[in-house]
Amino acid sequence: MPTKIMSINAGSSSLKFQLFEMPTEKTVAKGLFERLGSQDNAVFSYSFGTAKEKKELNRFSHKEAVDFLLNFLIEKKILSSLEELKGVGHRVAHGGEAFPHSCVIGIQEEAVIDELCQLAPLHNPVNLVGIRSFKEALPGVKQVAVFDTAFHQTMPSKNYIYPIPYDYYTQDGIRKYGFHGTSHQYVGDEAAKALGEQVESLKIISCHLGNGASICAIKNGKSFDTSMGFTPLAGLMMGTRCGDIDPSILTYLQKNKKMTPEDVEAMMNQQSGFLGVSQLSNDSRDILKAASEDNPQARLALDIFTNRVKTTIGAYAAEMGGIDVVIFTAGIGENSAEIRQLCCSDLAFLGIELDENRNQEGQSFIQKDGKSVYVMVIPTNEELKIAQDTFELV
Ligand code: AMP
Repeated sequence: MPTKIMSINAGSSSLKFQLFEMPTEKTVAKGLFERLGSQDNAVFSYSFGTAKEKKELNRFSHKEAVDFLLNFLIEKKILSSLEELKGVGHRVAHGGEAFPHSCVIGIQEEAVIDELCQLAPLHNPVNLVGIRSFKEALPGVKQVAVFDTAFHQTMPSKNYIYPIPYDYYTQDGIRKYGFHGTSHQYVGDEAAKALGEQVESLKIISCHLGNGASICAIKNGKSFDTSMGFTPLAGLMMGTRCGDIDPSILTYLQKNKKMTPEDVEAMMNQQSGFLGVSQLSNDSRDILKAASEDNPQARLALDIFTNRVKTTIGAYAAEMGGIDVVIFTAGIGENSAEIRQLCCSDLAFLGIELDENRNQEGQSFIQKDGKSVYVMVIPTNEELKIAQDTFELV
């Protein structure tokens, strides 16, 4: 008898849902609430079979959106009753060191997720709002947390301890946590399946390149290193985030330009990356177009972005002592042949070389015949991974 599992991703003003039939993994319905908790009316868009709609609702909180959604699913006969729903899986940004795996959320787990708000003040509080709204609406249904950080808990300490006084780790929890773990784990497993190999037997470099971007070295089926750090600001350059920069720049700006910590944080998170360098846009499509029209700053932004991906691939190949598979995923990784090509240029010495046609067509395997490294394009599906973990736990 198939089971229905809901996958939830709650953002500060949004709530994304996808309803799956398990174990078939078929999507039954999916949609998005936007402008929640604001002065504006909420907007609800959904698709169900061939039906697709976008409509304006009243002003809604997250809790009101959840109540609306559950009524809607019954009204449209997408669910015959709420009893059909066997579990709700929630994306939770930060699981700290407490959660190396997904878990059913009891009172204790909820309290720990709450404590971890100090490490992810922008994300964990809204994830909790989603969890509490569903708990209230569906008291008999198990809620599961799937953490962005959990997959990376297997990293060796040499890869997660920062070379600052050790007390900051033991007393304040300052270490590399890494993010996008659900996506890296999902595409790593998919790559192994496609190759007919055990994931444990492969050295994989997963490049999640979207508006947020990170790379993960997967060795023996486990996260071995990753480019995001204590926060999702570290590592690669991103749409509006700077990634790694000399940390002294922060104190220099605070001392010499009288910027406050908040100013510096906003500059690094919202005004940097593609947007900051190009002074045009955070969207790689705009950057690619402007670069093709010889805009020098757009070209520079593209060069910095792709060079950072390339140097990270090189570093992780060295760390793992080799490389079998490179995966490109997320908005940019799945869609831009040009960026994939730029990221892989000059890497022939590592056995990484793309076939131009396969890359242009975005085929699953895009390496040249006879090359030692498989290069793959794999659409990520964090919602499905959340549903898989939830199904397993309930
Ligand atoms: P994500 O964060 O994974 O949803 O990815 C969003 C980003 O993917 C957008 O900001 C775009 O820069 C990028 N993107 C989507 N489609 C394309 C495309 N066809 N070519 C280049 N970049 C794309």
